[in-house]
Amino acid sequence: MVMGPTHATSGAVAWLAGAGLVTTVAGYSQSPAELAVYTAVCAGSALLPDLDVSGRVFRNRGGATAARTFGVVSLFLAECVEKLSLGIYLLTRTKKDPRRRNGHRTFTHTLVFAILIGALISLLVGPLGKPFVFGVLFFTLALAIRGLLAEWVAKHGWLITTAASAAVTVIAFAGLPAESYPLLGVAVGVGCLVHMLGDLITHHGCPLLWPIPIAGRTWYSVTLPGDLAVTAGGKFERVVLLPALTFLAFVAAAWQVPVIQEWLSSLTQSFDSPPEAGS
Ligand SMILES: [Zn+2]
Repeated sequence: MVMGPTHATSGAVAWLAGAGLVTTVAGYSQSPAELAVYTAVCAGSALLPDLDVSGRVFRNRGGATAARTFGVVSLFLAECVEKLSLGIYLLTRTKKDPRRRNGHRTFTHTLVFAILIGALISLLVGPLGKPFVFGVLFFTLALAIRGLLAEWVAKHGWLITTAASAAVTVIAFAGLPAESYPLLGVAVGVGCLVHMLGDLITHHGCPLLWPIPIAGRTWYSVTLPGDLAVTAGGKFERVVLLPALTFLAFVAAAWQVPVIQEWLSSLTQSFDSPPEAGS
């Protein structure tokens, strides 16, 4: 599989570049706080689909970056997600889809999953309110720290990482405009989609278009032609792809500077403008 840092950095690039594009084309811009928080949420969510890599729960071993985020707890969750995904695979496979014993790179690696999880979060934000928002932020920001600061996490272990994630979540939650989280679900969904595109460029590909039958298979694995596909975790990814993505993240962030400038000028304007006559 593609490395965690590559997925997370692509998530950040996608959100920043997308935000710039939406501002330019549609004139809608996020506040600087929203931009920072949702970029991190998208980066973290770009690890989420790999919550289907099971490990050895009781030995606290194995699993992908996402599965190790909260130690044994998330390893157990990954075990459940993997089994559930395998169940969905076995129920919906055609005769041409290979038999499998493991659910990795199945349901959580489909467009349907990305849309469902994004829509579900958007729907639940209203009725479940702030505790739910806090929970989603905590989970995805912990993933973002795991992905973007992989070496720091390796050094300090999951307990300190979890504490740091909690602190970051409190700051992020305070920074977001209260009562309004229109982009939370979108950021998670986009992150998942970015993960799938990352997997798609490797030799394995992923069943992005499930359950649409292609060549008689509902779990048809979409990938690049053999020559173009990248070896996951290989030299190209480490030497070219990750540095290039990191560079792009900075470029995309710089693109956002006008947003910050606009915000500052609107602040100074509201200070400068005299109160209207008669009010
Ligand atoms: Zn994956």
